[in-house]
Amino acid sequence: MEVLQSAKLADVLYDVRGPALTRAKELESAGHRVLKLNIGNPAPFGFEAPHELLEDMIANLPIAQGYSDSKGILSARRAVMQYAQNKGFPSVDVEDIYLGNGVSELIVMALQGLLDNGDEVLVPAPDYPLWTASTSLAGGRAVHYRCDESNGWQPDIEDLESKVTDRTKAIVVINPNNPTGAVYDRPVLEAITEVARRHGLLIMADEIYDKILYDDTVHTSIASIAPDLLCLTFNGLSKAYRVAGFRSGWMIVSGPKKHAASYIEGLDLLANMRLCPNVPAQHVIQAALGGYQSIHDLLLPGGRLLEQRDLTWKLLNEIPGVSCVKPRGALYCFPRLDPEVYPVQDDRRLILDLLEEQHVLVVQGTGFNWFAPDHFRIVTLPRVEQLEDALGRIRSFLEDRDWS
Ligand code: PLP
Repeated sequence: MEVLQSAKLADVLYDVRGPALTRAKELESAGHRVLKLNIGNPAPFGFEAPHELLEDMIANLPIAQGYSDSKGILSARRAVMQYAQNKGFPSVDVEDIYLGNGVSELIVMALQGLLDNGDEVLVPAPDYPLWTASTSLAGGRAVHYRCDESNGWQPDIEDLESKVTDRTKAIVVINPNNPTGAVYDRPVLEAITEVARRHGLLIMADEIYDKILYDDTVHTSIASIAPDLLCLTFNGLSKAYRVAGFRSGWMIVSGPKKHAASYIEGLDLLANMRLCPNVPAQHVIQAALGGYQSIHDLLLPGGRLLEQRDLTWKLLNEIPGVSCVKPRGALYCFPRLDPEVYPVQDDRRLILDLLEEQHVLVVQGTGFNWFAPDHFRIVTLPRVEQLEDALGRIRSFLEDRDWS
């Protein structure tokens, strides 16, 4: 008897680790060196975690053998609470903080607890595709609002509001944004809160890159400017603290919770059902948030992340017919291929051909729910020599291809 996947998965896509990655692994098994620039995972590129995180994890292992409280250990939740207070979140208590196996688990939980079949969530295009996938998995429908490339990829507020219906439950804000690297200006965030206010919508803010900012960019948490709105803010250790493998993240519920008692009860139930997040990884949250913020050294002039962002952006823009908005945050570039020069019909095919011909793996723009096959995402984590190599190969691939 054939075993079929459930119908629930029909609209669930996650191309960051899609078929192209499977093919890249086959090429590697056959002895080829593949430049994998598809995943925002700092460790394989030689980034190390702050040492005190590793020390804390090891020192606490003996007391991390059992399950913890479903929401997570108190010392870590206190540290997150303090972080939230420093960022201006309104009325946050330890009970409003849920720790998770990465932000990913909490995104799935938050949407599972919110959506009935057919409910809609406003998700940015382009987006980090877990948001769209988790909305679909929860029975909902992701309705994509446009971010405007000609305006530094800031959300188009008119488009956002035009897509609100009586089924809309929430607005997702990914700031700093993956894949575009946009960091949203305060007036834009205020405009989003006004839409949420006018239509009674919950805000879900994915701020996992809030400490990865370039060129003196300042990050504002949307929760801090909307004390009257229910906000769920997501963050964790994977990026700024370079321990994606620890699977450690958190979700902060802020704003007027008394109107959300039923939803919060649901979140508590879902947290209980997964028993608790990985306990050793919870023990490093306090050390991470309270310790030396070494991420800043990587972002200042002379810092590795800044140099790599600058180089990737420069080399992309030097390719004829390619343009890229300068990322102000996060770990990616999201360049545009001018359709007049590169009339791409199928960007998934394009990315597979790039992989076959040049052994460089990136992710097609439609994998981030972008509307047209005219973008791709590349991570800025590799060292400059590797980026030069990869960008040289991408350029040759584009220039040598028969576009007629
Ligand atoms: N949110 C965004 C915007 C991301 O880019 C990622 C990972 O790339 C995640 C969430 C998942 O993070 P975690 O490792 O905490 O599950």
